[in-house]
Amino acid sequence: MGKVLYFDYAAMVIGIVLLGCMLLRKMTNGKMNRAFILLVSMAILTNAVDIIAVSYDKLGGVFLTEKMIYHSMYLLLRAYTSFFCLCYVIMLTDTWFKASNNRWKKLMLFLPMAIVTAAMIINVFTNHIFSINHDGVYVRGPLFLILYIINGYYAVYGFIKVFMYRKMLSLTKIFSIYTGSLLMMGAAAIQFLMPDVLIDMFANATGLLFLFMMIQRPEEITDSETGLLKLSAYDKELGRSLQNKKPETIIMIRMINFTVIREMLGYRDTVCVKRTIASSILQLMKELHVHGDVYYTESGNYRIKLEGKQEEKAAALAERINTLYKIPLKYKEMQLNLIVCVCIARIPTDIDTPEAMIALSNDLKHKYSGNVLYASRINTRVRYNMMHDMERILEDALANNGFEVYYQPIYSVKEQRFHSAEALLRLHTKQYGYISPELFIPVAEKNGMIHKIGLFVMDEVCRFIGSKEYQQLELEYIEINLSPAQCMENNLAKNIIRIMNDHHVLPQQLNLEITETASGKIQDIVMDNITTLHDAGISLSLDDFGTGYSNMTRIASIPFHIIKLDKTFTDIENNPNLVIVLENVIKMIKALNMKIVVEGIETKELVKTFSDLECEYIQGYYYSKPLPRQPFIDFILSHQRCRTAVGLPQ
Ligand code: C2E
Ligand code: MG
Ligand code: MG
Repeated sequence: MGKVLYFDYAAMVIGIVLLGCMLLRKMTNGKMNRAFILLVSMAILTNAVDIIAVSYDKLGGVFLTEKMIYHSMYLLLRAYTSFFCLCYVIMLTDTWFKASNNRWKKLMLFLPMAIVTAAMIINVFTNHIFSINHDGVYVRGPLFLILYIINGYYAVYGFIKVFMYRKMLSLTKIFSIYTGSLLMMGAAAIQFLMPDVLIDMFANATGLLFLFMMIQRPEEITDSETGLLKLSAYDKELGRSLQNKKPETIIMIRMINFTVIREMLGYRDTVCVKRTIASSILQLMKELHVHGDVYYTESGNYRIKLEGKQEEKAAALAERINTLYKIPLKYKEMQLNLIVCVCIARIPTDIDTPEAMIALSNDLKHKYSGNVLYASRINTRVRYNMMHDMERILEDALANNGFEVYYQPIYSVKEQRFHSAEALLRLHTKQYGYISPELFIPVAEKNGMIHKIGLFVMDEVCRFIGSKEYQQLELEYIEINLSPAQCMENNLAKNIIRIMNDHHVLPQQLNLEITETASGKIQDIVMDNITTLHDAGISLSLDDFGTGYSNMTRIASIPFHIIKLDKTFTDIENNPNLVIVLENVIKMIKALNMKIVVEGIETKELVKTFSDLECEYIQGYYYSKPLPRQPFIDFILSHQRCRTAVGLPQ
């Protein structure tokens, strides 16, 4: 029958279409894309050489040397293809650095390649692998099987690698790699047994097409707005690097005032600004010859991942980025002041867990100094360990009475007395000392412990309100914080009412604080809880007003009794515009018949300012920090005694 090239032509079409698709869709970013492009290019080249070799034979080419060269090249490239397939798997498991750091692993990887290359060169003289006989016909030699053994070796190597690292790969990826490889191996076996059926290259191209559709999905890794790699890709890559303890340098770029910029510009212009920043980062990397992957990890965060210890280059790049954003960004007719924090972190030296990375990322806002930050110098390693340990800490605190409720008095300007208080949860541990609720509440919200913690706070506060000591304090109510996750729990209202009844607490003795985030996500379940609690006579406060995305319509639709102005409003001394905002906000709240509590008041001047602005209640360190139960009782009682002494009404 002779060799038929139809399958090779089809394989060529598939290969070129694949490569074209990748280039047209700009899938050149990231090492997985680059590895795949290399694989497809290899397949096209091998296929082209195969077509040339077979066509030359078919056309009756007479030059034996040329025939020898074409066939040698094809067999060599074919063997290299399986090596590159293995490299792709190594990239997928992000373990290239392990192979390059270990002599034995290097040998296992490259020795078969060296053997096959040497064998092909020697074959020219010995004809052990193949030969061109006197009739000009290609004939397999006694050692031809060596090529298949080496192909099989790389395939088994790849299979084992995927199996070993199965935990870091999705099921789809594992399935696709195994299926694609089996397809290629099956076709290779057919071609071995039936040399005239040239199905090998076609199976190879089909396998690549399968991988392209199942694994190389651009939408899975590329952020469509910036063209950079996206958060999910960063998350996976970082997870792999941390798991493999792979040395890497990460440049973290965080636009601190992103929310403000987004609110000011709106969606479309923000996308343009994000894109401008992305291209300026890429431009700087090009100028400084820095090679690495750039990610947009949402909310004004960019990450550059540099492999290995490119410390000097990383420092130079970070400095340039930092300097670039010191100057306002020209956008349309505007000069945008972007507050950009740049930090360099090394893996695994500075950061060795995903939690540590998140903690560092959150820290950037507070550590911003205008200079490039170094994770190694931010002395928060203990905190990172703590974040890693948080679940255990919380379980331990719940089981062994580790939580304590503190109370912070709230002053009534009109009555000139402490009229209520806010319950604030405290956690002291032997190992890490005091842990702020700002750190442990988000963890508890994520792992669901917040419900138990919330019930503990509720029980403690109700027990206090039901006690004799509390009655002497003459407080109107105690405010309790409810986190967004708590508001979404089915039995929230029922549980609160049950605990209140257990301790004979009246509904008007409690006030529940919910945050804008919770009130923003108005789902049926949240609304049901709010309505039941409100109908039961419990008043509600909106906490941290002014920090999130204030949705006035929603605020108006929930029966809030009190709006708590966030600490950020106390910055009026430095920001005169804030006074105008404040005056109008206060006017609006009053028109809605709601009362105002200002939080975070630390000075006498601020007490005067907010009293003049007719805010009803004031809370802050100026009066008192949150206190444990007994010191709080003593504080309120001593204040009452002072009032009696100066003749003020109780
Ligand atoms: P929040 O509800 O807005 O509480 C006010 C925070 O401001 C408290 O921080 C309080 O200690 C602090 N603060 C009060 N006056 C001043 C001041 O004059 N200056 C400054 N700088 N800060 C002041 P804390 O206790 O660290 O609590 C932080 C957040 O953790 C709370 O913010 C609340 O959202 C959450 N949280 C605290 N306890 C609980 C709880 O029992 N349950 C839930 N779900 N969240 C809680
Ligand atoms: Mg609060
Ligand atoms: Mg607050």
